[in-house]
Amino acid sequence: MRADGIFIAVEVADDAAADAELARKLTEACPVDIFEASASGVKIVEKNLDECVLCDLCVQAAPAGAVKIVKLYE
Ligand code: SF4
Repeated sequence: MRADGIFIAVEVADDAAADAELARKLTEACPVDIFEASASGVKIVEKNLDECVLCDLCVQAAPAGAVKIVKLYE
């Protein structure tokens, strides 16, 4: 799953996105509420994407490679 803002895109690997426990961890980790835990796993809150502060807490909370933050600006 990938969602694009203007400045930031977030990618969550499909198997990770379906993991309810990971969804809970990401929701706790992100200081600007870019992740939400839903019944089907991780949901990306698109309206908050550009608030990302590149803190990497979501990447650290997830299994290696499962979450990627992409900077869309230089
Ligand atoms: S890098 Fe930080 S602010 Fe950006 S989505 Fe991950 S936890 Fe949220």
